[in-house]
Amino acid sequence: MDQFERLRQLPLRDDLRGLRPYGAPQLNVPVLLNVNENTHGVPTDAKEAILAAVAQELDGLNRYPDREFTVLRQELAAYLGHGLTEENLWAANGSNEVLQQLLQAFGGPGRTAMGFPPTYSMYPLLASGTGTGYVAGVREDDFTLTAESAAEQVRRNGPNIVFLCSPNNPTGTALGQDVVEAVYQAGEEAQAIIIVDEAYAEFAQTGTPSALNLLKGRPRLVVSRTMSKAFALAGARLGYLAGAPEVTDALRLVRLPYHLSAITQATAVAALRNSTSLLANVEQIKVQRDRIVQELKELGLTPAPSDSNFVFFGGLENPHEAWQALLNDGVLIRDVGIPGHLRVTAGTEAETTAFLTGLRTFLAR
Ligand SMILES: *Cc1c(COP(=O)(O)O)cnc(C)c1O
Repeated sequence: MDQFERLRQLPLRDDLRGLRPYGAPQLNVPVLLNVNENTHGVPTDAKEAILAAVAQELDGLNRYPDREFTVLRQELAAYLGHGLTEENLWAANGSNEVLQQLLQAFGGPGRTAMGFPPTYSMYPLLASGTGTGYVAGVREDDFTLTAESAAEQVRRNGPNIVFLCSPNNPTGTALGQDVVEAVYQAGEEAQAIIIVDEAYAEFAQTGTPSALNLLKGRPRLVVSRTMSKAFALAGARLGYLAGAPEVTDALRLVRLPYHLSAITQATAVAALRNSTSLLANVEQIKVQRDRIVQELKELGLTPAPSDSNFVFFGGLENPHEAWQALLNDGVLIRDVGIPGHLRVTAGTEAETTAFLTGLRTFLAR
């Protein structure tokens, strides 16, 4: 009897029957450019600061941590600026958990969330896990989303929650402020919570604004961020949001008590106090990102403009073959299942070279 046969014999929830666990392949190859991690690693001085901070927590590890993670919220507010205080901040184990808590508080049975695919594939999964309906909106043929179209779709569907991913994963392009403003207004009647997922905000092109600018006077707007990408801390699991104090109070109703461990809090606080060092590689990554866009164009492919640390590109006759050829060369990128397209993370200069060389060789065959 295989694992799925055995699973079928358990009294599993009807809506989970037949499902497979979500997740990109975790393969052991030399060049990992498939899940948009920061491949530069944590700089030595930041590592030492984190180690010292964690060591200090060990004496008190027999006690539950600060349930309110007050120091962490203060540090996050200081990092974001924009006149935010700890009252506006919330955090959890990755922004995935932050998004799940938002759905637990504002979604649920009888309610709907809306996203605009192709977008982050966790939105429908988190909706399903919380019993929230999911409405898939549509984008233009070139995967952009205009203010008029997004607002019209939100007005027509009246969702309780809207996910706006900016820059969008997997396409990499940021949304205009006008889209966020128009969607917020369109959600007025249904009192929709508008979530702008800015997981990659630190990689934005110069002049790309953050939705943090729009928080004032918009109590149903929430901006979600993470330390998994620019901060190179995907393994530490720390995501956060900025929003109105009422929103963070709502999340206190659904969070598990002590959901952020003392180790996690200490790690994140030490990282934020060393943000200059941790973020020093962001500029390097942006250089490699722009290099990928440039060189893919020279190869006759069609990369989307990127405000993130990855590039989504089309123009491939057989993307799965290209993906496999790169994997054979020890370079893992992402097949996001969109015809003609693949997605690649900008790595170090050497990793980026390995990717571009592998792809060039494949196309020349
Ligand atoms: C990577 C990513 C996240 C981050 O998830 P964490 O749980 O914080 O690691 C969130 N949203 C999008 C769109 C992402 O690509």
